[in-house]
Amino acid sequence: MVQVRGVHKRFGALEVLRGVDLVVPAGSVTVVLGPSGSGKSTLLRAINHLEKVDRGFVAIDGELIGYRRSGGKLHELKEREVLRQRTGIGFVFQNFNLFPHLTVLENIVEAPVSALRQPKAEARRAALALLARVGLSDKADAYPRQLSGGQQQRVAIARALALEPKVLLFDEPTSALDPELVGEVLDVIKDLARTGTTMIVVTHEIGFAREVADTVVFMDGGLVVEQGPPAAVLDDPQHERTRAFLSKVL
Ligand code: ATP
Ligand code: MG
Repeated sequence: MVQVRGVHKRFGALEVLRGVDLVVPAGSVTVVLGPSGSGKSTLLRAINHLEKVDRGFVAIDGELIGYRRSGGKLHELKEREVLRQRTGIGFVFQNFNLFPHLTVLENIVEAPVSALRQPKAEARRAALALLARVGLSDKADAYPRQLSGGQQQRVAIARALALEPKVLLFDEPTSALDPELVGEVLDVIKDLARTGTTMIVVTHEIGFAREVADTVVFMDGGLVVEQGPPAAVLDDPQHERTRAFLSKVL
């Protein structure tokens, strides 16, 4: 379970997150919608402590991210500890971010071997199974530049899964793709949803949200304006700002 409680974040004069609360139960999918600049990426980055929050906290399965509590006070964790926590939080970016000089298989094996100290043979076996799962068994020895955007993104998902994360965060995973490649990536994410992967997905794909999300969250101005089951938020929004946003994207 992911808990975000009272999270505030400011960049200089700009308060980007203004008290965000969010609970994502284990095995559920939350889709985050909202206009550009509403704080969606900052929220994801706060969850894995790429951004330090100014107030509030993030916890995953009860473990504070980036801090430990002792004597009633919060103490910042050392970088090494934060990196360990991050291995439990998969992150899939808009632009895939694969290592260009490594093959597909090497991209997937790298983190489990270096961060989790998995034996190489074991990591390779797991990586091949993940490649089969995302439909790319034949691409193990290809380099990222030899793949389509959709294939690269499916490798990025396999790479995130290789660390067996407690939660997977997606930041607009299909928005850099040609339209005809969007479906193959969404299908992989749908398959993960069916098998109970805990996920937070920032996307503008409303059809995907309707089909896959347990909860849809609408953010605006650094706040969660509205959240609930897809049918409620998408078909019967209670807030004017949600209605205005949906009328533009639907
Ligand atoms: P988009 O849909 O365009 O991706 P978003 O909802 O993901 O938008 P964020 O990227 O979280 O929005 O940004 C929220 C606001 O914070 C924006 O106004 C952005 O310019 C600002 N911001 C984000 N990161 C930084 C930073 N490192 N320094 C200063 N301002 C930042
Ligand atoms: Mg963003």
